[in-house]
Amino acid sequence: MTLLEERWRGVLDGMAEAVRRAGREQGSVRLVAVSKFHPASDIAELCRLGQKDFGENYIQEARAKQAELADLDIRWHAIGPVQTNKAKDVAGRFALLHTLDREELARALSRRLPEGATQDALIQVNIGEEPQKSGVHPADLAGLFEQLLKDDLISAEGPGLRVLGLMCLPPRCGEGEAARPYFARLRELRDDMVRRFGLPLPELSMGMSGDYREAVEEGATIIRVGTEIFGPRPVKM
Ligand SMILES: *Cc1c(COP(=O)(O)O)cnc(C)c1O
Repeated sequence: MTLLEERWRGVLDGMAEAVRRAGREQGSVRLVAVSKFHPASDIAELCRLGQKDFGENYIQEARAKQAELADLDIRWHAIGPVQTNKAKDVAGRFALLHTLDREELARALSRRLPEGATQDALIQVNIGEEPQKSGVHPADLAGLFEQLLKDDLISAEGPGLRVLGLMCLPPRCGEGEAARPYFARLRELRDDMVRRFGLPLPELSMGMSGDYREAVEEGATIIRVGTEIFGPRPVKM
């Protein structure tokens, strides 16, 4: 077994154990392997072992890897901030966009989607209310949903932007147990949006290498793990 396979299996085991501990159903949490800055050959190796979901932060890097690995059956996740002028490189090209956080981006994505196509997305919440981070602030979340629904920019069924849930990236200091309150808060916000707007919002994308177990215990349905699988990221060239 290669080191990469060993690490990947370790995360799958850790995830399964957290699912068990939380009394949740096996199979209710999906692992997105975050491959940013790691070579396409690593992605291909894991894909052959059965890992199908991969997350990338940078659209250009993601598109290059999509081209290189076009013959593999991979579900690509866009997990980094998206500039409005990059909407054309995202719309219709990722299985799930985790970082929809403003009306302007929703509008640009909708315009770029082919007629009748559906783009699945999550709303990113700036759960720690950090000034430098993207994501909608918790206090503004209901307002964003209201606006997007009013303007017919999102729906629960598609076509167009189909919003399936929420995503967050807690403050850096908040790893392990320290991150748990942020995860609980995202779940509560989701429950609140479901009550207010009647959308199902089944997905919660939360938890990374240092805190995915706590995220699973707090209801994550998608965890995004990079370092624990691929090792430290090489310095970006
Ligand atoms: C890089 C990144 C991850 C993975 O982080 P690790 O700590 O390496 O597991 C997850 N989510 C987002 C949004 C990221 O940018």
